[in-house]
Amino acid sequence: MREASITDCLADLLGGGIVALPTETVYGLACLALDDNAVQKVFDLKGRPSTNPLIVHVLNIEQAENIAELNSIAKLLCQEFWPGPLTLILPKKAVIPEKVTAGLNTVAIRSPSNPLFRKILEKADQPLAAPSANRFSKVSATTPREVMDSFGEDCPPILDGGKSNIGLESTVLDLTGDTPEILRLGPISKRELEKFLEIEILNYSKTKHANTAQKSPGLSSKHYSPETPICLYKDVSAILQVEHWTADDLIIFPSENLIPSSKLEPATAIAFSVTGEAKEIAHNLYATLNKADRFEKKLMHMALLEDGGDVAGAVNDRLTRASSS
Ligand code: AMP
Ligand code: MG
Repeated sequence: MREASITDCLADLLGGGIVALPTETVYGLACLALDDNAVQKVFDLKGRPSTNPLIVHVLNIEQAENIAELNSIAKLLCQEFWPGPLTLILPKKAVIPEKVTAGLNTVAIRSPSNPLFRKILEKADQPLAAPSANRFSKVSATTPREVMDSFGEDCPPILDGGKSNIGLESTVLDLTGDTPEILRLGPISKRELEKFLEIEILNYSKTKHANTAQKSPGLSSKHYSPETPICLYKDVSAILQVEHWTADDLIIFPSENLIPSSKLEPATAIAFSVTGEAKEIAHNLYATLNKADRFEKKLMHMALLEDGGDVAGAVNDRLTRASSS
């Protein structure tokens, strides 16, 4: 593994290179946000379509104000939820290259809380663009090992920050319309945002954006997908009703205690968590999907989470897109 120190990473970044950095959500593939060439390298390495904009990471509100127009709602949200897993879509300022925003006049910004990432932001003294450190449409990486597995020989230097605390990508909130709108569910829920702002927030509507494909490019229905196809069930009891399993099947239960002691042979069964809590499942989600891939079975079986709570909704969103063909 190409592990690198903070000093090495900083030198690479300032020299126009790419490095993989830990954030509290997932690992990011970082470069200088203001360097057109470096940004292109990130798109190339990920295999990300140029129509899919990157999130720009900043140290604080002051840095955000250098690159975007913050209205009063944006400022309130930054004060409350930054540093943290909330990305805001705001009108962009001219310094941000069009490549970063896929030609949009808006930019996605967040301030990560991971101390290593923050140290690099502080020393670089400028914003970093960083999409998730995985090949396009594949499972996000939450450990250095997963970053390396994703990129193989092309893997950039990795700053090892252990396993990502949260494990799920940031909530993306669009503040450029009349009403704030969630473009991607994530660790900070709609309910939490509504409670704080005391206004209603919209959920991304495909119908509404049918004619504005440019609005939210990262929302393709297939995303976060492991190599092995997924069969998604409405709940665990639907999995338990299956009568015949084969050695080509791998079943992932929400928690270990839900794995029945018999009935599943000759299939393999693993679990997303010990406790079954949505937060723990989110934390282990991608690591478990990556682990499941390594069994090289023909089909993975898993169920949507039943507790419809905030984090469960975000996990179910990822499971639905991971299983979409
Ligand atoms: P990732 O970098 O893989 O975590 O994905 C970034 C997410 O932010 C994707 O869903 C993008 O489509 C979304 N995003 C980034 N910039 C914008 C923007 N200007 N407008 C709307 N969505 C954006
Ligand atoms: Mg991603």
